[in-house]
Amino acid sequence: MSEEKNLNFIEEIIEEDLANRKYTEVLTRFPPEPNGYLHIGHAKSICLNFNLALKFGGKTNLRFDDTNPVKEDTEYVDSIKEDLQWLGFKWATELYASDYFDQLYNFATQLISKGLAYVDDGSAEEITALKGTPTEPGKDGPYRDRPVEENLRLFEEMKAGKYKDGEKVLRAKIDMAANNMHMRDPIIYRIKHAHHHRTGDAWCIYPMYDFAHGQSDSIEHITHSICTLEFIPHRELYDWFIEKLEIFPSKQYEFARLNMTYTVMSKRKLLQLVEEGYVQSWDDPRMPTISGMRRRGYTAESIRNFCDRIGIAKRENLIDVSLLEFCVREHLNKLASRVMAVLDPVKLVITNYPEGQIEELISENGPDESYGTRKLAFGKELWIEREDFMEEPAKKWFRLAPGALVRLKSAYIVKCEGFVKDNNGTVQEVHCSYLPETQSGNDTSGISVKGTIHWVSAAHAIPAEIRLYDRLFKVENPSQEEGDFKEYINPDSLHVISKAYVEPSLANAAAGSVYQFIRKGYFCVDKESQAPKLVFNRTVSLKDAWAKEVKKS
Ligand code: ATP
Ligand code: MG
Repeated sequence: MSEEKNLNFIEEIIEEDLANRKYTEVLTRFPPEPNGYLHIGHAKSICLNFNLALKFGGKTNLRFDDTNPVKEDTEYVDSIKEDLQWLGFKWATELYASDYFDQLYNFATQLISKGLAYVDDGSAEEITALKGTPTEPGKDGPYRDRPVEENLRLFEEMKAGKYKDGEKVLRAKIDMAANNMHMRDPIIYRIKHAHHHRTGDAWCIYPMYDFAHGQSDSIEHITHSICTLEFIPHRELYDWFIEKLEIFPSKQYEFARLNMTYTVMSKRKLLQLVEEGYVQSWDDPRMPTISGMRRRGYTAESIRNFCDRIGIAKRENLIDVSLLEFCVREHLNKLASRVMAVLDPVKLVITNYPEGQIEELISENGPDESYGTRKLAFGKELWIEREDFMEEPAKKWFRLAPGALVRLKSAYIVKCEGFVKDNNGTVQEVHCSYLPETQSGNDTSGISVKGTIHWVSAAHAIPAEIRLYDRLFKVENPSQEEGDFKEYINPDSLHVISKAYVEPSLANAAAGSVYQFIRKGYFCVDKESQAPKLVFNRTVSLKDAWAKEVKKS
């Protein structure tokens, strides 16, 4: 890596290509298959592709890799576009591999005409049997030397629908003894009588990934086609098709996919979680999907920042999800207004506060003036957090306990005078007296206390449902464990608090708005929230184990 410029390995290649005038403009693409929602791994690929183009004054296409009719759907197309826009990226052109079906068909007939492709009547088993193993060469099959004319006729008949699924395939004629198994006459077209989300029933033969992807890159004049490491063995084939078809020389480069702890990242697995009801939807806030993270309150900026921080590597690794949480927290700390919410309420009664009196106190919305201020109603009865009272206080307990003084945030210092329990021994009410001369901002008392607690006026509080999320899996890397990955699902990944109270300023908070609930974490308004029933998701807690780690390094 060239240290002073801090370029990643793909940036170095691009810089060299531009210096050698190999290309005049960098063109990358993001090529999702519309068979699921985008996840954080895709975000990494998106940031990489778009930022490379931005950095070198080029462009990025959005190309739907929609050559597999069975699993694809327009619902996914729409969600992918929405997620990309939300992430903050603008694609140059929206394209579909299915738009190239005619052209790809022509490419295939060109290969046949050159004696470089043939129709094989063998079954999947027969074809596999002749393919050999990584240590043993394959063998030529009985259809390999079919005359060109016959191949052309059969391929046309395949297209015309004369044959059933699996009856015939078109294969490239390369080398059955090649070291690279992908070069042993790979299948390039298969018969599939299936409805396609865009081309409908126009086609019953569909190109395989290897025959569609590189050629689509080439048709669009993509200069740097970036994919994940598992495609390294495909690169030889990618280059072979381009060479034999004599088309624009796009080049493939590989980087390590993102793997993250306590989640899974394959669309096939995520689909199972949705379909089998382990989560509610693709945008369930526990999902590693972009839409799930958005709903949970993660910001686009924090996701981009995360992708930037992890960088790109040539070797597989597993990234700690706490780094992502750290990035989210870091951004929300700047962004979110501070408000008060009580998650586990117990009543606090101020015995010497006049019955029926209401004061409007001024409270700051954030750590500095730029956040502004708001009015906060204060009265005789408040909700406070149950855990902020202790009947028999532990050592160094600075919150409420019989006889103890504590500050109510943005309000007064109160002294605990007693409490009331119900028959089960559960504290029902905490009784305090307040010190009128200790009002925040106007405190003339000279009294200082060590503890400050949050509260909400009982007469003004708005009830809210609060959803607390934990990791979706119990183990760091569920995909690597023995057996089915679903055995490792955390059964307690969602905890719903149905009777919390939030301050009245949140009454009309719009879905998606993010707040810091003082002392409790960052929360956002869920899309299901609708007055009078407010619903909040906990985005991330306040505790940041990573801050320490980052400072240390
Ligand atoms: P999945 O395994 O989730 O089905 P995929 O690779 O089949 O993923 P595509 O829709 O084909 O999904 O991916 C679009 C692009 O995103 C590809 O270029 C792919 O390499 C990239 N991508 C997918 N998953 C990751 C990941 N975990 N990290 C980085 N890039 C990824
Ligand atoms: Mg794929």
